Amino acid sequence: MTLSLKGPSLETALTYDDVLLVPQYSNIRSRSDIDISTDLGKNLVLELPIIASPMDTISEAPMAIAMSKHGGVAILHRYSSLVEQHRMLTYAKDAAASQPLTIGGAIGTTGDYLERASALVAAGVTFLCVDVAHGHHILMKEALTALRAALGDDIHIMAGNVATLEGVNDLSDWGADSVRCNIGGGSICSTRTQTGHGLPGLQTVMECAKTDRNVMIIADGGIRNSGDIVKALAAGADAVMCGSLLSGTNETPGKIIEEQDGTRWKKYRGMASKEAQINWRGKYSSFEGVSSRVPYRGGVKHLLSDLERGIRSGLSYSGARNISELHSTAQFIQQTTSGLSESHTHIIGRKW
Ligand code: IMP
Repeated sequence: MTLSLKGPSLETALTYDDVLLVPQYSNIRSRSDIDISTDLGKNLVLELPIIASPMDTISEAPMAIAMSKHGGVAILHRYSSLVEQHRMLTYAKDAAASQPLTIGGAIGTTGDYLERASALVAAGVTFLCVDVAHGHHILMKEALTALRAALGDDIHIMAGNVATLEGVNDLSDWGADSVRCNIGGGSICSTRTQTGHGLPGLQTVMECAKTDRNVMIIADGGIRNSGDIVKALAAGADAVMCGSLLSGTNETPGKIIEEQDGTRWKKYRGMASKEAQINWRGKYSSFEGVSSRVPYRGGVKHLLSDLERGIRSGLSYSGARNISELHSTAQFIQQTTSGLSESHTHIIGRKW
């Protein structure tokens, strides 16, 4: 039988659970000697390479203050009026008191985005994030061009999301300093089932990190623990963006939901979920996310400290003193499903 070679080709792409990093010789005596800071350019320097997603159940003023305090950063979401977003920024700046505040502000690519951008920059955001689901798009090209014309080159502009090297290169050529990479990998995301499009998250990062442009790679979505963060950084990311990892904490917007049995929850929802769309624009079109609830987990500080320790330890296992050394020393291997089950703790449920 002869196989037809007509039609699209098919490639395999891997994601976080498909791979492991090979442990390597280390001459680093203490994990405190490991530097996990990342310089994303134009005053956007993070001591902890974690960015809180611009979502209305993750990033408002309290998360921005907490993230900045712990060396990361949050991006104030854009699902509110310009006046409200501006108020969040002013509040975060006053509440942060005398501490330096690193903070981002999200904008879209249509409507009042230029006015928002100018107002946020004038009010002191560290950087802007042009936040759309499909960033490799003519509207992104027009928005980045207009933003650069209006604001000049000094302000850091993050943009996304994209899933391909071509996408990263185009966004960089249109004016982005950093690009959010991953389509459809988020925990609350249904883009892949709804549209059939996307690319497994880790492979996206590996492909995007091949860029020859001067642009930073942000691994966004699908990151569930410090191990995934280390894998994303090892794959070439300069920082990671997280939603679910920070969800359910005191610093997220929204009330604690208490059940009769005493269990406590907080809401976490995709910004393209039916519920979120109805809330922020009174109607919905294609919905590509879900609305969920997650266990209430107290203050974000402890989570961030645990993540920081995990990242430091991860770099140590690869013998890397910093993220740029990790980029060059990391070695991935693919694991089987038996390897994956061995990788998880496996005492519970064992048949003795
Ligand atoms: P998580 O860290 O896996 O929870 O994913 C968070 C990321 O999912 C965000 O940073 C966005 O890139 C993405 N995201 C947020 N809302 C939606 C949605 O409704 N649909 C698809 N992706 C979303």
